Amino acid sequence: MAEKDMLKFVGVGQAFPEKRPAAERDDDFLEINRAYILAKAEEQASRCSQCGVPFCQVHCPLHNNIPDWLRLTAEGRLQEAYELSEATSTMPEVCGRICPQDRLCEGNCVIEQSGHGAVTIGSVEKFITDTAWKEGWVRPLRPLSDRSGQSVGIIGAGPAGVTAAEYLRRRGYEVHVYDRHDRGGGLLTYGIPGFKLEKEIVMRRLARLEEGGIVFHYDFEVGRDMTLAQLRAKHDALLVATGVYKARDIKAPGVGAGGVIPALDYLIASNRKSFGDSVPAFENGSLNAEGKHVVVVGGGDTAMDCVRTAVRQGAASVKCLYRRDRANMPGSQREVANAEEEGVVFVWLSAPQAFDDNAGKVAGVRAQQMRLGAPDASGRRAPEVIEGGDFRVEADLVIKALGFDPEDLPQMFGAPDLTVTRWGTLRTDHKTMMTSVDGVFAAGDIVRGASLVVWAIRDGRDVAKTMHTYLAARAGASATKAAA
Ligand code: FAD
Repeated sequence: MAEKDMLKFVGVGQAFPEKRPAAERDDDFLEINRAYILAKAEEQASRCSQCGVPFCQVHCPLHNNIPDWLRLTAEGRLQEAYELSEATSTMPEVCGRICPQDRLCEGNCVIEQSGHGAVTIGSVEKFITDTAWKEGWVRPLRPLSDRSGQSVGIIGAGPAGVTAAEYLRRRGYEVHVYDRHDRGGGLLTYGIPGFKLEKEIVMRRLARLEEGGIVFHYDFEVGRDMTLAQLRAKHDALLVATGVYKARDIKAPGVGAGGVIPALDYLIASNRKSFGDSVPAFENGSLNAEGKHVVVVGGGDTAMDCVRTAVRQGAASVKCLYRRDRANMPGSQREVANAEEEGVVFVWLSAPQAFDDNAGKVAGVRAQQMRLGAPDASGRRAPEVIEGGDFRVEADLVIKALGFDPEDLPQMFGAPDLTVTRWGTLRTDHKTMMTSVDGVFAAGDIVRGASLVVWAIRDGRDVAKTMHTYLAARAGASATKAAA
């Protein structure tokens, strides 16, 4: 039982699945980690110390029951491990691949703190669920009761929207998901590149939802094709899970030159190519890094995805300019290491000052050297310019990856009564997750601001519960009225 199979961290070292060598992976969009073999997954799971207070679970936004599914894996009870893992997550194989585990579960693993190296939780999670798909243990989505008299509309097919859709469909509601893209998945499909998350993984989840009776309406943009009020009139409740898409811009001379492009346009084009779509802006070279000197500005996940995409497209050189240092960047340290292995050069403590415009095309970035000064209001040390530290970097493609803010939803949706916070995110009641408009709920990045997939899944799970409470009360009230 447990103790016999567990606590092996003293004698068994930490081993992540093998990474494909940089020279082999730097020209394709396939995931970079090879899969564990069964024996390795069991061995690595057996390193768990089965703590009384499982900090891994506490620091997982989904509170996944990590110690128990690690123990089941170590004991060779893989199907049970899967069932436990999917009890709290709608897409464990996605989290296993792209959660920043070094900051969440693994970063808080007790044996990491004691210097033994964390249990490789994300890799085991991925292994369990990939095996479940192979073995046919992933059950079809089936409504557990019939509430088809009530329908729910969900705006946004990202992880928050589809998670809520799954839980609400399971409760028996008629569920319609509306998305302005031609495929679901949100940023899982069109933001995050295949080398972190192969597209098939996302498409397989969406197919299961469709087979379970969820109706997807693609190429449908709320605000363009219908106002919020019109959509509200069609459903008993609505969920807004539209994410955040207003790209922050750089204010510097020359920023309007050709070849200075927003990160998401670039990533969407590349992801579309991975699906085999025709993308004129890629084919004509404007969103293609092949043969170019590429400079990416920013230090978050989006910047990391851009630099590594540019490598794979065959860029002549790829540099990343970030105004803070390595220790103070928001992106994952693992991703920086992967990018460096693939040949990306990081120019820490540097910020663009101007872009050289050569006959309408960018030719270089004039940058300033920075240092970290005193902490600002957010508690982070603020970057300051070092006078006289200017330098120039050659560039014929500059990708702006400075983060995202919410779009102006009240204006876009024709819904002035939809209240937003001073950051432009939707204001919701903390308990019910309902917005200022009756029956309209919100979840994911549009409430939190740019965040993580695992938080979007958590919000989708929570909002499905509060929407059910609202809908059940409404159904109860109609039944009472009809009986009176
Ligand atoms: P989204 O995933 O943004 O989905 C929103 C959906 O709403 C989209 O499909 C959009 O088309 C649709 N929509 C928007 N407006 C409308 C409208 N008016 N009408 C109809 N549909 C609309 N997180 C991680 O945990 N790990 C990572 O490695 C990671 N990498 C990232 C890389 C990039 C490049 C980016 C940009 C983000 C990354 N993130 C990562 C963050 C993560 O992707 C988001 O936090 C998460 O996807 C948010 O989920 P969501 O469902 O709230 O929104």
